[in-house]
Amino acid sequence: MGILTKAPRGTQDILPAKSAPWQAMERELIATAQRFGFQEIRTPTFEHTELFSRSVGDTTDVVQKEMYTFTDKGDRSITLRPEGTAGAARAVIEHGLLSEALPVKVSYLLSCFRYEKPQAGRLREFHQFGAELYGSASPAADADLIALASQALANIGIREVSLEINSIGCPNCRPAYLQALRDYFEAHREKLCPTCLERLQKNPLRILDCKNPDCAAVAKDAPLVLDHLCGDCRDHFDGLRARLDTLAIPYTVNPRIVRGLDYYTRTVFEFVSGGIGAQSTVCGGGRYDGLIGELGGPQTPALGFAMGLERLLLVLEAQGNPPPAAESCDLYIAPMGETAAVKAFQLANLLRDEGYYAETDLMGRSLRAQMKYADKLGAKFSLVLGEDELAKGEGMLKDMESGETLPLPLGEGLLEEVDRRMAARAYAQLEKSIQENLED
Ligand code: ATP
Ligand code: MG
Repeated sequence: MGILTKAPRGTQDILPAKSAPWQAMERELIATAQRFGFQEIRTPTFEHTELFSRSVGDTTDVVQKEMYTFTDKGDRSITLRPEGTAGAARAVIEHGLLSEALPVKVSYLLSCFRYEKPQAGRLREFHQFGAELYGSASPAADADLIALASQALANIGIREVSLEINSIGCPNCRPAYLQALRDYFEAHREKLCPTCLERLQKNPLRILDCKNPDCAAVAKDAPLVLDHLCGDCRDHFDGLRARLDTLAIPYTVNPRIVRGLDYYTRTVFEFVSGGIGAQSTVCGGGRYDGLIGELGGPQTPALGFAMGLERLLLVLEAQGNPPPAAESCDLYIAPMGETAAVKAFQLANLLRDEGYYAETDLMGRSLRAQMKYADKLGAKFSLVLGEDELAKGEGMLKDMESGETLPLPLGEGLLEEVDRRMAARAYAQLEKSIQENLED
């Protein structure tokens, strides 16, 4: 296939036949976020490169290896966003949102770009749903955010998922822990990959996240951050755990989660789902109390998470959830002849204006072919318009499932009759499904 008819590696088209599950998932995520008081924020697809190297951290894989960075025609270094937290933080600082009533809660649905090795659940352009909460240092905020993630996953139909939490300390206790890590890895330096040797001085925490099997083998016995927390960090962690217990949200403490981004402090967490292979983390997040200040905003504690929508769809598929059906056509109008085609066009638009999904012929098909096409659209009703119907000012509205036909006035009273028939059909279907449920 030529380059003109092949999408770039690691990208994916969502074709019309596959868009219904995306739309259903996105609607549910946004609606859940709203119930928790998170309102949508939309930020640019690209930002100044510096924003990501400062916030995500320049010792991370994301910044070192995965960013789509280019120089624009004005000689600025620009990067396609690899994640959503940095852009949202920049926006709330820039527009002074943090000087209004706190907490500020935002959510987003966006595409992210990372130059990674494409595989199942790992793309170069992928989509995230995320939420960020600014202004609260309380563990109650951590629990609020985790509760949102947990309900969002449940509401889109994810069943088997486990929550793992950890604390990675704060600027008070982390230096001593980093020193303990350095001492440990220093004693095993011959087994570390070249990147980790560099990380040893700059950011030994990153070694714990290295995907190289030799580094991972050494990291297995490294000192645990939970053994090095200061009193405040321990209290915070205990507070979060108590809140999660109150909500009966099950979790395990996994002292090995450090997360791949530099801005985290204290709480970090992941939701992990089995059954989709190696890329099993569907959601990752945590607290980042230093980031807003680091970017030049007012010192503001904050936290957030992001979930990968492609991975969530993989989980739903693996679970065998039936994909939601696309909207089917309410009424197909099949004209015969040019005069009828004009009337059909007019009627279809009238019905669309009323909120119905109405369709008519744009292909000059025969009546037979039109009825076949109406079936393909899953049309609930059809209406044939020929010379006779136009002369009489009345057609026959046909229920495509039962075959039942009833007269439909083409002028006055048309909308009322369509409304009546649509409502009666919906009612009959509801009754049928209630009956079926009772019999189950
Ligand atoms: P991983 O360890 O799988 O590389 P990560 O730690 O880099 O994940 P985050 O930066 O925390 O991931 O992003 C949050 C979520 O976004 C991940 O849990 C995952 O669901 C999704 N995600 C991250 N990178 C990709 C990608 N390249 N393709 C698809 N989804 C991704
Ligand atoms: Mg990654």
